[in-house]
Amino acid sequence: MFLIWGEQNTEKKLGYVAEYCATCRDVRAVKVLRVGRTSHLFYVPLGRGRLLGYDGVCRRCELRFGVEITDYPAFEQDKNADLIELVRKTNPKLLAGNDAALAAWRRMNAVREPFLRYNHNLLQRYLAGARYDLPAVLALAGSLVVPFAFVYLAGRLLPKSADAWVGFGFIALFIAGLLWANRLARAEPHRFFRSRLEDALLEDLRKLSPTHEELLACLAALREYEYPIAEAVSADRLLECAAGPQPRSKVQAAAAKPAPAPKPTLVLSHAGKDYRFSPGVAEIVIGRSRENAIVLESKYVSRSHAQVAWPAGAAPRLKNLSRTGTSLRPDGATQAMACSGEVELHGSGAIGLSEDFAGAESRGDVIRYRIASG
Ligand SMILES: [Zn+2]
Repeated sequence: MFLIWGEQNTEKKLGYVAEYCATCRDVRAVKVLRVGRTSHLFYVPLGRGRLLGYDGVCRRCELRFGVEITDYPAFEQDKNADLIELVRKTNPKLLAGNDAALAAWRRMNAVREPFLRYNHNLLQRYLAGARYDLPAVLALAGSLVVPFAFVYLAGRLLPKSADAWVGFGFIALFIAGLLWANRLARAEPHRFFRSRLEDALLEDLRKLSPTHEELLACLAALREYEYPIAEAVSADRLLECAAGPQPRSKVQAAAAKPAPAPKPTLVLSHAGKDYRFSPGVAEIVIGRSRENAIVLESKYVSRSHAQVAWPAGAAPRLKNLSRTGTSLRPDGATQAMACSGEVELHGSGAIGLSEDFAGAESRGDVIRYRIASG
């Protein structure tokens, strides 16, 4: 007995859509086919096979061309459907004057484009067949090493009567190892994508500021039509590219993670101007002198009146440099206090450039301070 077997292409009709035909130079009803490649036995295909792509065939002129299957919101099964109805149902962006549908398609197409680009890459890699990268090679080596190690140990530990079982175990371990190595080799494009392409895809997507809905809709469509990238990409990482409010489940997930520590800022305000400082500032001198970080043009204020330093990892510190003294009134305090030595600043309040806070305040010789987080 002889066998005829091999590989062949398979076609499955998905339905009809309205699409532009380059030969007819017009919108036509187009039959859409899923093209796959599968093993056959005596030319009987075994299953519909792995996906090669999607083709459209013009109903009028029989031109066959590749179609972007996720363009179509629906398929029509009636091959004699009215063309206008067909356009409306399967390809509304082609309706004259349907600007909203065209704009929606353009946006969808922009978000989809990076996926298709990297999907092409992934598809080529899958079509190239099994590939042995390091994990697969290690599994292959393991499929030899582990059975021999098993036999060696069994020979030392088990009685001679168990030999038949040891032989059986050897073969079982060897076959399991081979199957596992083969499985790993077949999944190599997936690992290749994760390690080499995924970051680039996410970077491209981020530039488009897609919403969660856009990303999820795109992923769902690609998954429905068996694009390998839909399985390869990490949905969690994908959704991190999304702009705008997150769906509830993601918000809860984010709440469970510790938020990154906000970077504090010290804001000093005077005469309607804000001066912002980050931790690690050695000295911010306040006074009448022009060289100072904050200049107060008041005859009651010394040339260098007070200084704020903010060592990293500690609270900002206020130090008086003037003979007339400096005072401090934190918000919520009932009265001001004189600044002797160094005083730590917390929360918000006012710095008076005189030991007499009320006097300084009446002259406007006051600096507001506020420690903002983030
Ligand atoms: Zn045609």
